[in-house]
Amino acid sequence: MILGILKEDSSDNRVAVIPETAAALLKLGVSEVRIEAGAGERAGYRDADYVAQGAQVTNEADVLSKSDLVVKINPLTSSQANQLKAGQMILGQYNPLTNREVINPLLDGKITAFSLDMLPRTTRAQASDVLSSMATVAGYKAVLVAASEFVGFFPMFMTAAGTIKPAKVLILGAGVAGLQAIATAKRLGAVVEAFDVRTAAKEEVLSLGAKFVDVEGAQESAAAGGYAIEQSEEFKQRQAEAVHKHASMADIVICTAQIPGRRAPVLLRKTTVDAMKPGSVVVDLAASTGGNCEVTENGKSIYYNGVKIIGDSSLPSSVPRDASAMFSKNVLNFMKILAPKGEAVLNFEDDIVQGTCITHQGEVISPRLKTLMASA
Ligand code: NAD
Repeated sequence: MILGILKEDSSDNRVAVIPETAAALLKLGVSEVRIEAGAGERAGYRDADYVAQGAQVTNEADVLSKSDLVVKINPLTSSQANQLKAGQMILGQYNPLTNREVINPLLDGKITAFSLDMLPRTTRAQASDVLSSMATVAGYKAVLVAASEFVGFFPMFMTAAGTIKPAKVLILGAGVAGLQAIATAKRLGAVVEAFDVRTAAKEEVLSLGAKFVDVEGAQESAAAGGYAIEQSEEFKQRQAEAVHKHASMADIVICTAQIPGRRAPVLLRKTTVDAMKPGSVVVDLAASTGGNCEVTENGKSIYYNGVKIIGDSSLPSSVPRDASAMFSKNVLNFMKILAPKGEAVLNFEDDIVQGTCITHQGEVISPRLKTLMASA
C-alpha cells in the first residue's frame, strides 16, 4: 500500500503523520510513504526529517493520484476530493456525526473513508483514540489561554504588598478535556470546581483535588457507551441554577461538555454571564457544536458585559508539534489494525474497522452513523 499525507488547510498547524511514524509505517509493511512538501513545517517537522525516515516528499496532486490511502486530519477540500478515484481510501477526523455534509461526496465518489473520531470507546481502541488525544491538548491549552487573558493571577500570592487570593476555576464537563483542564488549573495554583452528569466523573474529579458540584437527578444510559445523554428539562433547570451559583463566584469557566452527534448542551446561560465578575474569562471548547455558553461565538473572542468569552474548538492546532505526534501515533495504531502487514484488510467484522469506516463502495458502513442518519 502507498500511504500519502496531505498538508492541512491553512487554519490548522498540525500534520497527520510525523517523520518517526512514517518510518514505523514503512516498518509495518507500507510500501511507500509520500508526503506533500511543507506538510509538517508549521508543526516543527521539516521535509528533510521525513526524507531521513524513508518518506518521499512530493506535491499534492502526486499524493492524491498515487496513494492507496490518503491521510489528512481535516476533510479534503472539494478540489482534493475531486482528484480521488473510486476505491481509494482516506483517513482522518471528519466528525461525520455533526458534519453531515462530508458524507455525500464520499458516497458519490465511492471512496472508502475512515474517520478516527468514530472509534468505539473500548480498551482495545484506546491507542487509536484521536478524540482523547486532542481533548487532552485542548483541555490543557484552554487553561493557559484563560490564564493569559485573565485580569489576575492563578496562584495565591503572599507578598509584602499584600495577599492575593487564588483564582477560582469552574470546569463544565469532566471528560478527557475537562480532567486535563482540572489538572492544569491545579498545577497553576487555582481553586478548581467541576461539574458533569456522569456519576463516574465525580471520583475522577475528586482524585485530581478539585471539588465536584453535585446536581441530583442526572440521567445516564449504559447504551451511550460511556458518553453523556440529553437530560430532562427539570434537570436542566436545576443544573442551570447550580451553574449560575458557582459561575457567578468563578473567575474562569472552561466549557467542555459534549453529547456525540448533538448540539452541545447550553450550561452557561446569558443571565449567568450577566452575573459573572467583570474581568473573568470563559473558554468554550464546545464552540463548534454550538457552545456550552449561550453567548459564545464560534471562532471568536468577544467581550460580553465585561467577561471575555473565547469560542475556540481548534486549540489542538495551537500546540501543533505534540498534537501532531499524538494524532500520528493514533494513526499508526489504527493502521496496525486496518493493515497489519502494510496492506489494508477490510475486515468489517472488526468493530474498530467497521465503526470508523463511514463510507465504502457507495454505502455507509459505521452502525452509529447509519442509525443517526436513519433517525434524522
Ligand atoms: P465528551 O467530549 O463527549 O464530553 C465531555 C464531557 O461532557 C463528558 O464527561 C460528558 O459527560 C460531559 N457532559 C455532557 N453533557 C453534559 C451536561 N449536560 N452537563 C455536564 N456535563 C456534560 O466526552 P469524552 O471526554 O470524550 O469522554 C466521555 C467518556 O468516555 C468518559 O467516560 C471517558 O472516560 C470515556 N472514554 C473512554 C475511552 C476508551 O475507553 N477508549 C477513551 C476516552 C474516553
